[in-house]
Amino acid sequence: MANEGSAINPFETAKRQVDIVADLLHLDTGVREILKHPKRELTVNFPVRMDNGSYHVFTGYRVQYNMARGPTKGGIRYHPQVTLDEVRALAAWMTWKCAVVNLPYGGGKGGVICDPKHMSKDELQRLTRRYASEIGPIIGPEMDIPAPDVYTDSQTMAWIMDTYSMQKGYSVPGVVTGKPISLGGSEGRGEATGRGCAYVIREAAPHAGIRVKGASVAVQGFGNAGSVAAKLLHDEQGAKIVAVSDSKGGIHNPEGLNPHTVEEFKLKTGSVVNFPGSRSITNEEILELPVDVLIPAALENQITKRNADKVQAKIVAEAANGPTVPEADVTLFEKKITVLPDILANAGGVTVSYFEWAQDIQGFFWPLAEVNQKLEAVMVRSYNDVHKVAEQQHVHNRTAAYVLAIQRVVDAINIRGIYP
Ligand code: NAD
Repeated sequence: MANEGSAINPFETAKRQVDIVADLLHLDTGVREILKHPKRELTVNFPVRMDNGSYHVFTGYRVQYNMARGPTKGGIRYHPQVTLDEVRALAAWMTWKCAVVNLPYGGGKGGVICDPKHMSKDELQRLTRRYASEIGPIIGPEMDIPAPDVYTDSQTMAWIMDTYSMQKGYSVPGVVTGKPISLGGSEGRGEATGRGCAYVIREAAPHAGIRVKGASVAVQGFGNAGSVAAKLLHDEQGAKIVAVSDSKGGIHNPEGLNPHTVEEFKLKTGSVVNFPGSRSITNEEILELPVDVLIPAALENQITKRNADKVQAKIVAEAANGPTVPEADVTLFEKKITVLPDILANAGGVTVSYFEWAQDIQGFFWPLAEVNQKLEAVMVRSYNDVHKVAEQQHVHNRTAAYVLAIQRVVDAINIRGIYP
């Protein structure tokens, strides 16, 4: 999926997005500068003993972008291409995401430069525990609450929770979210991102002139976020899933695919490719299909200047973070495509992470139905908030979401005042 997008520095994109909204909100230079700087960044270089007895020094980051609205919240990514600028951008986006759905959080993010696909489970455990110790002084349930991101999962969170708790001398489940249920994780967290995305598509459909029942849907990236969205749109809203893809390629059947059967096939064979009764397509082609709803749910920088005019969907719902570059946004807007921006469309994950943290702090856990009902309420309210700003200010949904989010952060900065 490498394309022109790969060269784009995500933090430059994040700052450009702030500038666009700062102009619209007539923000003064001082506030604008605050919004374009991470509040706190920690770089850690730490040794890990590898299975062959050697030591390898890894570099990791934790960025706390803005905490005007509350403790910072955001995932930890393990990837060979992690950079400080990427972590800064992801931390900025977390700040706006938490604000757009009105959670009492700021935004943060972490990353370790490593190749988890070539590390053993023991090596990953030692890396995680040492990284958790290194960032330990700046995380905590009232300060900064990590969660899983690319190539980290509930096991990673369990190790971080345990490491932090060992150092405190008592169990602190609220230090991370996305934990296993047995350690204070929340019901519904696993499917929250896809579920939240399905709710906002349902809310947006009438405004985009489509009915979800019978609507054709293509999903790029049939992983956690994408496959759950596909299954819920299919099962609960009667949509027709016509194409899905993963890192190995995509499949298309205009008559519709059963996402459950595709998932079983992927589990057995390692990919959706060659699913019986489908035609193979590329990860570029899936973006350009004549569908009602396109869900980019894989990586960033997928819809660019190069292919934006070929997108035919009526709704683009960004389950992935940053799948559309700013130049492409303009084209999609001109084509009257309803974009449900990432900071809204995939905010279901952080919303249920917030529920998890709230349950951990109370020590009182909610049944699945209650979690989903509360998630639905947050997503519906947030979609309506964004839609209202878009209508009032004649801007597209991404700008509207940013206007709403940044205004909320600015209000918190202003009412708190600048210390000292
Ligand atoms: P995942 O690893 O479960 O799934 C990713 C899917 O994308 C996999 O099916 C993978 O095969 C596919 N993929 C990888 N490279 C690809 C490529 N080059 N072309 C097409 N498909 C490719 O990850 P996920 O948790 O579903 O995350 C997907 C996106 O959603 C990311 O951008 C992530 O930041 C975002 N997101 C996830 C959550 C969450 O709670 N899981 C929350 C918010 C945002």
